[in-house]
Amino acid sequence: PSIRREGFATTPDVTWADVGSLHEVRAELFMSTTFHIAHPELYTAMGVPNPSGVLLYGPPGCGKTLVAKAAASESGANFISIKGPELLNKFVGESEKAVRTLFERARAAKPCVVFFDEMDALVPRRGSDNNQSSERLVNQLLAEMDGVDGRQGVYLIGATNRPDMIDPALLRPGRLDKLLYVPLPPPEGRVSILQALTRKTPLAPEVDIAAIGLDTRCSRFSGADLAALVKAAVDAALKEVVNAAFKDGVFDPAALLRLPSSAGQTTGQ
Ligand code: ATP
Repeated sequence: PSIRREGFATTPDVTWADVGSLHEVRAELFMSTTFHIAHPELYTAMGVPNPSGVLLYGPPGCGKTLVAKAAASESGANFISIKGPELLNKFVGESEKAVRTLFERARAAKPCVVFFDEMDALVPRRGSDNNQSSERLVNQLLAEMDGVDGRQGVYLIGATNRPDMIDPALLRPGRLDKLLYVPLPPPEGRVSILQALTRKTPLAPEVDIAAIGLDTRCSRFSGADLAALVKAAVDAALKEVVNAAFKDGVFDPAALLRLPSSAGQTTGQ
């Protein structure tokens, strides 16, 4: 897992249990990805065999990457993640080759979800300042999306914070034609995100996740902000555990082995 897997097929270890809030996004991704992967024959019978591509948009840190991974793992599909700027930063001509290789890998690993992060960097609205090589890259990408006989078994999910900055050609039918907004969580959404984030964390009985999530001090927190809050609480609890493992200035490692329960007892103090 420590190996860098950018651009290669993996099976993500994220499940929907790790995702809080975002029920509508989940339901939409179920229909466009999971159900399609399970029953492609139904779509063929309806005369529309190709899956729709999805563009997730919204403020940073609200779960776009997370839901794309959860949708892939729920479907038992492979997952390839690529960041727009990484494809762009190749040498002239190399980016187009990288796009081809990416789709070759996806076809070899199908059913496969290809996740394009920072889509706006990859396919910016075409204007006078675009150079020829980025134009060629965009054309290559669009051609791969359309595919020779469609794109059976390859599911595209893009993500951006700036949907207005994306070349509209990308959003045409058959490409990323389904736009899904991934919003900042409402107060009760924050509670469900905190629950997902702490589902494997031992908590002291007095830790009231609902009260923390609803607290106005957390207003406008993204999922990433809530993850940082949980991390800070865990760090503080572990610090207490480590301090407690020092007896008369001598460190007692055996005390650390009792960590989950002692972390639980110290969290809320
Ligand atoms: P960016 O636009 O910056 O790429 P993003 O929308 O893709 O952000 P993620 O990378 O999915 O955001 O989220 C960052 C981290 O924040 C996640 O790894 C997770 O810890 C936490 N997080 C965000 N949203 C949620 C959520 N809805 N449920 C649980 N955790 C969340």
